[in-house]
Amino acid sequence: MAGQSKLVVGVDVPWVTSWTGEEITGAAPCRTVGGRLALMQASAPGAGKPQYSKNHLVRQRLTVARMLCPMCGEPTEEGDRWTQIAARRCAGQLRARGGQVRADIADDRVMIDAGSIAPLHRRCVDRSMKYCPHLRASDDVMVMRFPREWIVLPLLVKAETGPGVAVAFLQLCGVTQTIDRRWRAETAA
Ligand SMILES: [Zn+2]
Repeated sequence: MAGQSKLVVGVDVPWVTSWTGEEITGAAPCRTVGGRLALMQASAPGAGKPQYSKNHLVRQRLTVARMLCPMCGEPTEEGDRWTQIAARRCAGQLRARGGQVRADIADDRVMIDAGSIAPLHRRCVDRSMKYCPHLRASDDVMVMRFPREWIVLPLLVKAETGPGVAVAFLQLCGVTQTIDRRWRAETAA
């Protein structure tokens, strides 16, 4: 058994972070993805050491599926959803990579690709910037409001048992009202 850490989950360590005491247990139907097959992981936050570069599989999916703040684990409300490291991409670029983007979103619509990181509360953004040296040093950090509309793209892995695929993490993309004219020009050419 891994010993219990003195670090406080949601305060010293982000809620979504995986711990060495949390074993990955394989694929099973999961409520975070409507009963689809998903990779599962034991839940024992605080057991052993935090793995800062790894998200817990189930907690990560919960943050995206229920719009929970990855830092504190509490729900975020519309108007207080912020993203720190997000890339602007066209819907067409996401489709080209195999993302199943809803049919009513045109290829030239600009999307805010937050990757696997659900939006944070503003207070949690400010705290994470204060405490996380990686974030402070990164040129990619740009705090912005997360759009009101979004889509969720399941990141699939091959299930170890059987022929199927299982959901590992959920990718989150905000949908903006902006059109990328360059994309339109390039694909028309
Ligand atoms: Zn928070």
